[in-house]
Amino acid sequence: MAKIQMTTPLVEMDGDEMTRIIWQMIKDELICPFVDLKTEYYDLGLEHRNETDDAVTVESAEATKRLGVAVKCATITANAARVEEYGLKQMWKSPNGTIRAMLDGTVFRAPIVVRGIEPCVSNWKEPITLARHAYGDVYKNAEMRIPGAGKVELVYTAADGSEQRELVHEFSGPGVVQGMHNLDASIESFARSCFNYALDTRQDVWFSTKDTISKKYDHRFKDIFQEIFDAEYKERFDAAGIEYFYTLIDDAVARVMKSKGGFIWACKNYDGDVMSDMVSSAFGSLAMMTSVLVSPDGVYEYEAAHGTVQRHYYKHLKGEETSTNSVATIFAWSGALRKRGELDELPELMAFADRLEKATIDTIEAGEMTGDLALITTLENPVKLSTREFIQAIAKRLAA
Ligand code: NAP
Ligand code: MG
Repeated sequence: MAKIQMTTPLVEMDGDEMTRIIWQMIKDELICPFVDLKTEYYDLGLEHRNETDDAVTVESAEATKRLGVAVKCATITANAARVEEYGLKQMWKSPNGTIRAMLDGTVFRAPIVVRGIEPCVSNWKEPITLARHAYGDVYKNAEMRIPGAGKVELVYTAADGSEQRELVHEFSGPGVVQGMHNLDASIESFARSCFNYALDTRQDVWFSTKDTISKKYDHRFKDIFQEIFDAEYKERFDAAGIEYFYTLIDDAVARVMKSKGGFIWACKNYDGDVMSDMVSSAFGSLAMMTSVLVSPDGVYEYEAAHGTVQRHYYKHLKGEETSTNSVATIFAWSGALRKRGELDELPELMAFADRLEKATIDTIEAGEMTGDLALITTLENPVKLSTREFIQAIAKRLAA
């Protein structure tokens, strides 16, 4: 059988530990036998990041801007223990943070829905995609403990030296205070990323903040979304038969619980952090989540939502059998291949991505799955497979 051809290479970002092992198996068993795979390869494994003083991470993000689509393996974010374990020159920054900053993107996460892994919320029939703003607010705050009586003010000093002040609180005893910020430019790209993703996936966008209480800060988010929607997207949404609506976060939470799913929920940074953990655990498992970073100028980076599964890797190094779930990493590859096929007008490549996902889902629905899913499935008598056996079971279906 002739292999499916590609025209533009994908940016391939290899990673660490157990996910690096899975990465190679997916290429060997599920992709290369069927596709004449073209990639520009960047090794983001911690050793190579250290050797290149992390230049490889920056180069891989630049390549993504140039080529448009990347697929990324999970990577170690260095901490003190890793500096020692790998003899690092320094505590390198999170590659995801570096890439996100360079692409100025929004992260979209959606559960992979299969029969037999049922959401805790029984009326959720379709996946709920969480779009999290990844800049500012409490993640870039300034805070202080207030030791005792005194006045706290917000002071803005303009470039011309003029001042604007706002009383935060007149303290009569000890307490705490926090200052945070966001940027119109960042909120604008967040809005555009959400609207573009909605058009791409033909889903409604819900956006929620606490603007009734935060009449300037959260209200600014609400206004920017509405202005951009009205000026740039309204007509295209009408044509696609989808809608955008804004609602208070309390109301959004209540509606989400009663919904049947199938929409994009855009959240500010903190809300998105908390709500994405809630949505993903209610749908089953982090290993069953897709994750894609979308930049406002239409660059895509696909990855798994989980980490490098360190505990399994150490078992693997000892020669023990592991049962690590590769679904999210497979879907990172299928997502990237489909997007490449769409941009390059290669319908066969897009159809292959669909077949790869279907073979993966069919394998699980036939009761063949990794240990994490075998523990939570509602299917009777699931068969627990090893990391390699699960990928081979998918390969068998794909070849058929
Ligand atoms: P993790 O790799 O997500 O794993 C945490 C635990 O979740 C695992 O020990 C395992 O539980 C379960 N798990 C996660 N993914 C699984 C899968 N695919 N199949 C089966 N079980 C899975 O998080 P971590 O151990 O806290 O972090 C390890 C490294 O990953 C860290 O160095 C961190 O910096 C990095 N990380 C990278 C990314 C990224 O690149 N996107 C994201 C998060 C973390 P059991 O052990 O109970 O089986
Ligand atoms: Mg979180």
